[in-house]
Amino acid sequence: MAGAGFDCDLFVIGAGSGGVRAARIAARHGAKVAVAEEYRVGGACVIRGCVPKKLFVYASQYAEAFEDAVGFGWTTQGVAFDWPTLVVNKDREIARLEAIYVRNLEAAGCEVIRERATLKDRQTVSLSGGRTVRARIILVATGATPNLDPALPGIEHAITSNEAFHLPRLPERMAIAGGGYIAVEFAGVFNGLGVETTLVYRGEQILRGFDDDVRAALAAEMRKKGITLVLGRTFTGIEREAGGTLRAGLIGGGALEADAVMFAIGRKPNTAHLGLEQAGVELTAEGAIKVDAYSRTSIENIYAVGDVTNRVNLTPVAIREGHAFADTVFGGRPTAVDHETIPTAVFSQPEIGTVGLTEAQARARFAQVDIYKTSFRPMRHTLSGRDERMLMKLVVEAASDRVLGCHIMGPDAAEMAQVLAIAVRMGARKADFDATMALHPSAAEELVTMREKWRPG
Ligand code: FAD
Repeated sequence: MAGAGFDCDLFVIGAGSGGVRAARIAARHGAKVAVAEEYRVGGACVIRGCVPKKLFVYASQYAEAFEDAVGFGWTTQGVAFDWPTLVVNKDREIARLEAIYVRNLEAAGCEVIRERATLKDRQTVSLSGGRTVRARIILVATGATPNLDPALPGIEHAITSNEAFHLPRLPERMAIAGGGYIAVEFAGVFNGLGVETTLVYRGEQILRGFDDDVRAALAAEMRKKGITLVLGRTFTGIEREAGGTLRAGLIGGGALEADAVMFAIGRKPNTAHLGLEQAGVELTAEGAIKVDAYSRTSIENIYAVGDVTNRVNLTPVAIREGHAFADTVFGGRPTAVDHETIPTAVFSQPEIGTVGLTEAQARARFAQVDIYKTSFRPMRHTLSGRDERMLMKLVVEAASDRVLGCHIMGPDAAEMAQVLAIAVRMGARKADFDATMALHPSAAEELVTMREKWRPG
């Protein structure tokens, strides 16, 4: 029941990963909740992020699967790929998930308002339809949007991941700007679907922030699969030629010709034109909402969770922050989210799964660090004949024997990282890994059979 003078206890702006979880849990704690969504319920993850991305990754892996099958005795002539079928089927699945999200919100008793919402003042939300709502607590969960480089000549010809999910035709040639996980994943998707793919990144190596061995190994495998990596360079501009081909000039000379140019150069928090400044909500220099450990902003009754706070921009983190917020404010159980030891994956080809510190991070924090690593050809490729390697690496603090980080590149790396995260969080020692019986035949057994410390040279 909303308090005196309020239309609701909680107004949530944004029905994505964080907002939906917060709304449902707050309602379960007895709050009267309204949620506004300006686009589609489910947010980036469901509508144009994790879910459609992973479906595209699956689609793109069949090309190699068909090739690999030959070594196992299969005949695979006549296989063909149809892009519109993939897009339609993917859209059907997303519509199904969106409907479940709406149903769950309504079943929890939340009012779902399909309008854009902005803050009028600390306690009042304006809806694009003209209505205003007075709320005791407001949660901003508006997510983030892909960055474009507005100063780049011809940037209007570029697409972002948003549009990549709905291209009317599969391009023959694709140029992708960026070196983060979204750029790398889409490069793998388009390459797998038969598109001539070039990735252009200004840094010296892709996937900044990941372990250096994994970064180098993935770059090598991507090149083997036919993706062109142009590192240390950026675009100078994009022009559309008479026939429709896009010509993207490169710093230092030369140009790339492509049918589509995609920018995946990072995402910015959705804080513009929300009325945050007039409500007195403080932002960071990057335009994210500043929050404390309980996701409270500089204004007492306004909270923020998920990508808009630019802490760790992943769906499970937004969900956990939304849940913790609801428990704190409506459940009488103050809960701070632990942002350490978050497992993460890159659905590149091959895949990356990782948890804990990289070698470089560990060396910066601890006096002595031992490294265990192995690189091998996965068993499947003994018959498929594919020249692809798998990498596993453990980062161990010498003094305590604690496993600080696990880094894997290869099939099912994401699945392994999720399970390894439990061990790393529990403070497992290398001796615990060694004492664990191997599961044979598997790739993961290498994680418990690496005995020799790696030595340079
Ligand atoms: P969102 O889920 O983005 O929700 C914000 C919602 O607010 C949106 O629906 C938006 O329309 C709405 N909104 C914004 N402003 C307003 C307003 N003024 N009024 C009303 N509604 C508004 N994460 C992973 O963990 N794993 C992955 O594999 C992964 N892959 C990704 C791939 C891509 C291509 C992208 C773009 C992201 C990916 N992410 C992944 C990140 C993940 O999607 C986000 O971290 C997550 O969605 C953040 O949740 P959120 O609640 O903060 O925001």
